[in-house]
Amino acid sequence: MDKYENNIYKAKGKARRVGIMGGTFNPIHHGHLVTAQEALSQFNLDLVIFIPTADPPHKTDGSIASMEDRYLMTVIATASNNDFFVSRIEINRKGKSYTIDTVRGLRSVYGKEVSLYFITGADAILEILTWKNTEEIISLAKFIAATRPGYNLAKIEDLKAKLFKNKREGDDKIFIMEVPALAISSTDIRNRVRQKRPIDYLVPEEISHYIIKHGLYK
Ligand code: NAP
Repeated sequence: MDKYENNIYKAKGKARRVGIMGGTFNPIHHGHLVTAQEALSQFNLDLVIFIPTADPPHKTDGSIASMEDRYLMTVIATASNNDFFVSRIEINRKGKSYTIDTVRGLRSVYGKEVSLYFITGADAILEILTWKNTEEIISLAKFIAATRPGYNLAKIEDLKAKLFKNKREGDDKIFIMEVPALAISSTDIRNRVRQKRPIDYLVPEEISHYIIKHGLYK
């Protein structure tokens, strides 16, 4: 663990509840920022660590900006929030970005007493059975599945029924959080850039400038 990463983990010395915001952030947008802020407040978290994936195991279509661009955009977008941090844990690791390796790493830094909440999109969590070491991930962290209103919640309930012995256990491990701002999506933003349509107000102003300055998603 390098000095910068160490500072993140020490930043809130007495942290007891830590949010891990996992995503490709291609690019980060206001839906992600509202999601993290909402999780912080609803789940009484001490901090949220954004972890951009380096090499997502499930993505092969080539429309992904470089990991350094996605990382820098995430740092820029979160810089003004004292409770938000950005980790290079997946970027610094060689090979595919498996969530199990990230959660194991954070568990070893924070110890057994701290509650870890892995926050990501509900559609991503629906695929958790295909992730590496599903059972171990679930034993190490709780999950916050962020959805937009109108999302078919039955799919998450079906997943819980498959993963857990009873409803109570499932309800204590996977939480659904509705975030109206998640009507914004990275796919739409990339399409807009490609089609020369505006992305103002969908992403922080600095991110809009970054995308143009570095010629991303053209
Ligand atoms: P994705 O499949 O690109 O995204 C699925 C949906 O979730 C999209 O609508 C996406 O919206 C949304 N989303 C993604 N991250 C979000 C976040 N933090 N908050 C709110 N909404 C979010 O998913 P992904 O971004 O590649 O992966 C999500 C996380 O799951 C990452 O941490 C990844 O490493 C992990 N994962 C692990 C494995 C594994 O270990 N084998 C496999 C797959 C995913 P946007 O496109 O607008 O972001």
